[in-house]
Amino acid sequence: MKELSNPPIVYFVVPCYNEEQVLPETVKRLTEKLHSMQEKGLAHGNSRMLLVDDGSKDKTWELISQFHGENPCVEGVKLAHNRGHQNALLCGLMTAMERCDCAISLDADLQDDTDVLDQFVEKYLDGCDVVYGVRNKRDTDTFFKKATAEGFYKVMKFLGADVVFNHADYRLMSRRALEGLSEYREVNLFLRGIVPLIGYRSDYVYYDRHERFAGESKYPLKKMISFALDGITSFSVKPLKLISNFGILISVLSVFGLLYALISYFAGWAVSGWTAIVCSIWLLGGLQMLCLGVVGGYIGKIYSEVKARPRFRIEEHLEQSEEEKKD
Ligand code: UDP
Ligand code: MG
Repeated sequence: MKELSNPPIVYFVVPCYNEEQVLPETVKRLTEKLHSMQEKGLAHGNSRMLLVDDGSKDKTWELISQFHGENPCVEGVKLAHNRGHQNALLCGLMTAMERCDCAISLDADLQDDTDVLDQFVEKYLDGCDVVYGVRNKRDTDTFFKKATAEGFYKVMKFLGADVVFNHADYRLMSRRALEGLSEYREVNLFLRGIVPLIGYRSDYVYYDRHERFAGESKYPLKKMISFALDGITSFSVKPLKLISNFGILISVLSVFGLLYALISYFAGWAVSGWTAIVCSIWLLGGLQMLCLGVVGGYIGKIYSEVKARPRFRIEEHLEQSEEEKKD
């Protein structure tokens, strides 16, 4: 295993999609930050920012190449086509993993407050492997975005996925946490769900989210909904279990329906033929739902097998040497 440096080599990993308007300011601020962290002894001289161009159609890559030429702190990776924020981020983290002691992911638009970057590294130096950036309040969001985002975290919790409330992708990960992440081979990426599964000691840094510095959001509502659905379907098979439970409920209710229908029949309230139809609709509906749930249960199992997530990760191993064992 590669030796860790002291102070640590810190990498800022920044996915960029059509960000020509903000990039000069982002690079300027992150360079200043890296220098000030180096002066404070929080970051090694080999610390860098890694800009990942997610197949932009504007001048983003030209700018990255230009900054790379002028500024020794800047490294760049260009994806061959637009693969979305999560994939671009994963590519950046996996590239940084080889070179850094810890990597901090942040957005290119300077919405993530760069003033708290020092706190991330301080917590890392205190022994944390993962540090989550958590938003203090959502003043800069519209009512709609705030309500949907907070509702989403609650639904995720209810479905059993361990996500950190109000944390997006502003986070620090140590090299061994990144190595842990590299073992998750799934294609439907939802990083903020995977990272808590990696384990290790973690902590939070609270920050205020700013307005986008320039340009427009690259996450329109359609992308946001599909991202949220991806999160739910990648981390929970509970919706499948809900089908079974619903089926059981309807089957039980159908017994009462059956009784009611029979009473109506014998009491002469029912028109002829009604009893048979009502009984079969309820009973068959319930049974079908239950069967779907059973099939769903197996599909859920296949799904988790296919994802082939790591089953465990050893944090520490206390071993006796051969000689001590003999004593
Ligand atoms: N992004 C990306 N690929 C995409 C969409 C977005 O790499 O397909 C990047 C974008 O450049 C930014 C980050 O992901 O650095 C977050 O995007 P954005 O700020 O547009 O999202 P919002 O903050 O509005 O949710
Ligand atoms: Mg943004």
